[in-house]
Amino acid sequence: MATGTESVIKPDHGASRKHFIFTDEHEQLRESMESWVKKEVHPNRFEWEENYWPDSILKRAGDLGYIGLCYPEEYGGQGGDYFYSLVRAEALSYSGCGGFNMGMAVHTDMVTPPIHLLGTEEQKQRYLVPSIAGDMIGCLGITEPGAGSDVASIRTTARRDGDEYVINGSKTFITNGKRANYIVLVTKTDPDAGHDGISLFIVDIRDENGVEVEGFSVSQELEKMGMHASDTAELSFQDVRVPAENLLGTEGKGFYHISWELQGERLVGAIGCVSGAERVFERTLEYAKEREAFGRPIGKFQTIRHKFAEMSTQIE
Ligand SMILES: Cc1cc2nc3c(=O)[nH]c(=O)nc-3n(C[C@H](O)[C@H](O)[C@H](O)COP(=O)(O)OP(=O)(O)OC[C@H]3O[C@@H](n4cnc5c(N)ncnc54)[C@H](O)[C@@H]3O)c2cc1C
Repeated sequence: MATGTESVIKPDHGASRKHFIFTDEHEQLRESMESWVKKEVHPNRFEWEENYWPDSILKRAGDLGYIGLCYPEEYGGQGGDYFYSLVRAEALSYSGCGGFNMGMAVHTDMVTPPIHLLGTEEQKQRYLVPSIAGDMIGCLGITEPGAGSDVASIRTTARRDGDEYVINGSKTFITNGKRANYIVLVTKTDPDAGHDGISLFIVDIRDENGVEVEGFSVSQELEKMGMHASDTAELSFQDVRVPAENLLGTEGKGFYHISWELQGERLVGAIGCVSGAERVFERTLEYAKEREAFGRPIGKFQTIRHKFAEMSTQIE
């Protein structure tokens, strides 16, 4: 009969078992990305919590091919399937830095997918290719001070004026808003048409020197309870002029386009949360094995073992 703590407490939430959706190639990526995250991301987590994660780490991820995992090789990607995204989200949980994971996931799984799906060839060359390389950083503007879950009630407008659209309004809680080169922006092109009056645009918000374009500004940098490594901003658009060719997808179909985007985003977000819980479980287990009270590791007390069993079941 097993008596040691190690053999009594055995979490079995998938760490050693391969899920049927993952192939050997997915597992190879997991191994290489986990090792990169542990070596080049995890050691910096406390510094980044003070000063935000640096743009250079996204460039490094681009150089290593981790941004373009699911995009075709012709755009600089690796040509993999969607499940590579999930492996990436799981591997990032080893960073111990939710803010970096969030900033990177916004770029890889929220901003670039609609450009790849809906963008013209010119838009892909101009925004997707440098984003995959890590040379450009994107952000996504859906939420407004008066509209969160209820996306159709946004008020930011894009009014056609000749070969351009003129954008007015504000967005809030925008991850990467303080640093991004461009934003995938959800606007109303026909305020009276409800769900059918919403359109997406790719809007350049900073030039190559990082200077904000005319009419665009960060109205507020937001303080959060956690994820301090990630910048979150309220953005203001006052008569920002965008060329008509920066319309992303079909005019009036933006609500449906962004609903598609949100599905992938939420799945990656959920996987990040579950993987994060697994990492917390592992750390807690280590502590329970090390910490001694009343002459034994606390992990040997039955009540604590019950807690571990309960936690492991919930994570599973
Ligand atoms: C750290 C962080 C980063 C973010 N990054 C971005 C970003 O990059 N881009 C972006 O566009 N947005 C971003 N967001 C915004 C996020 O997407 C919104 O917070 C979210 O959509 C919810 O909107 P809200 O906060 O306005 O809440 P609300 O929509 O006002 O909801 C308030 C509460 O009511 C509940 N509720 C709403 N509707 C219903 C309903 N029909 N039935 C039952 N309950 C309901 C909600 O669950 C919630 O608990 C970010 C938010 C955070 C916290």
